[in-house]
Amino acid sequence: MNENTPESGLSLDPDNWGDIRKLGHRMVDDMIDYLASTRDRPVWQKMPDDIRSSFHEPLPQISNNPAEVYEDFRRRILPYAVGNTHPRFMGWVHGGGNVIGMLAELLAAGLNANLGGRDQAPIEVERQVIRWVAEMLGFPKDASGVLVTGTSLANLIGVVVARTHALGSHVRQDGLQAARLTAYTSRMAHGCIAKAMDVVGLGTEALRMIPCDASHRIDLPALAAAVARDRASGAMPFLVVGNAGTVDAGAVDDLAALAAFCRAQGLWFHVDGAFGAMAMLAPSLRPLLSGIELADSVGLDFHKWMQVPYDAGCIIVRDAATHLAAFAAPAHYLGREARGLAAGSPWPCDLGTDLSRGFRALKVWMTIQVYGTARLGEVVARSCALARELAARVDDEPALERLAPVAMNIVCFRYRAASVNLDRLNADIVADLQEMGIAAPSTTVIDGCVAIRAALFNHRTLPQDIHALVDAVLTRGRARTEEPGTAS
Ligand SMILES: *Cc1c(COP(=O)(O)O)cnc(C)c1O
Repeated sequence: MNENTPESGLSLDPDNWGDIRKLGHRMVDDMIDYLASTRDRPVWQKMPDDIRSSFHEPLPQISNNPAEVYEDFRRRILPYAVGNTHPRFMGWVHGGGNVIGMLAELLAAGLNANLGGRDQAPIEVERQVIRWVAEMLGFPKDASGVLVTGTSLANLIGVVVARTHALGSHVRQDGLQAARLTAYTSRMAHGCIAKAMDVVGLGTEALRMIPCDASHRIDLPALAAAVARDRASGAMPFLVVGNAGTVDAGAVDDLAALAAFCRAQGLWFHVDGAFGAMAMLAPSLRPLLSGIELADSVGLDFHKWMQVPYDAGCIIVRDAATHLAAFAAPAHYLGREARGLAAGSPWPCDLGTDLSRGFRALKVWMTIQVYGTARLGEVVARSCALARELAARVDDEPALERLAPVAMNIVCFRYRAASVNLDRLNADIVADLQEMGIAAPSTTVIDGCVAIRAALFNHRTLPQDIHALVDAVLTRGRARTEEPGTAS
């Protein structure tokens, strides 16, 4: 093996490559075992206080043996993750990850590619992923896009592109001046839209939260009225954010109607498709999203319903020139070399806020290639079938009450009992299930009621897991209402 020689100086490469190879193989073996045995573990366990406080060690000055640091990972980190690889993790909106994606992360880190720009194969991989997204959504072949951490940032970029489109690119130098831009989305929209309005300097008050119908879809007459009201008051409506899968109940707005409204009104139409856009992979679900192909831009995540390991989201913009105009510094991208490493403009750094960026495209590219969109679409369709099965079971159980329609893969329900505070009871049931490691739903508030929310995203979830969730909810509900002593 290559021993460190005086010439190798201060390199961080190991003295003995054989040792690190052995350790690397062990890490790969252990993580494959970890994924293979996910079902056998509790979904989650609370980190003990002594382990939590052990993370206060000071900045290490001297070298440590990599094998010991790895042992430390196994002891202090591995057992206390959130558990979203587990088939009974049903909380929030979390993807389950996949083993090819995990291995792709190893390859990407080995290359240590910086995808800000330059003439390199990894950027071609990212461009291909963007073309695949365009194909999946029914966007033009030459749509522009860039991978980002997640849909929060994708939506932020969407707001910036819409703003620049509305005001012209001089807004990038002059700022908003007196322009009173207003945007519209439904009350069910994710909080990151308001945050984007805040960050961009438009203010959250300029985001009109439009009421929804009984199916949690944006109320179109209310939207039209709000836009008219704002125009009459001298504001400048510029953007509608449609929801393809709301975070509470998975509702999908009437995207075709929103697209038509936006076209008639000259408004930018952005779709938050964080998880719902992946329904395009399932032929049975695709009609739900009809109209998404008409959007000006879409934000979506690979790390949720497509099961790519965190983090991997994407913004795609129909008109490439408009996207570029919002972020590129023309002096930079026009001034780049036509040959050598500095060729290949525009670069990903011209399409968003990051300059240095990792090779997150690789895990997306490998996941899509290895499983294919047919199988990934079946995973999506099965999540929806499981949600229907769960909803049917909830509807059959007298002690349970469903609180929202099931549009796709999210079921909101609660345990009912006489003369107790149902909000407290249902929040306690969810915390019990999480702490017992049986299942991990989360809570949400639907029409003012605390709901147990089961969001079915994990490709490992089976019908038995759905029934285990319901059984555990019933057991805890009874225990908490029938034996006062246990209801702490
Ligand atoms: C998860 C989610 C987001 C935020 O996406 P991140 O990837 O977490 O940044 C936005 N909108 C919806 C509907 C979501 O489900």
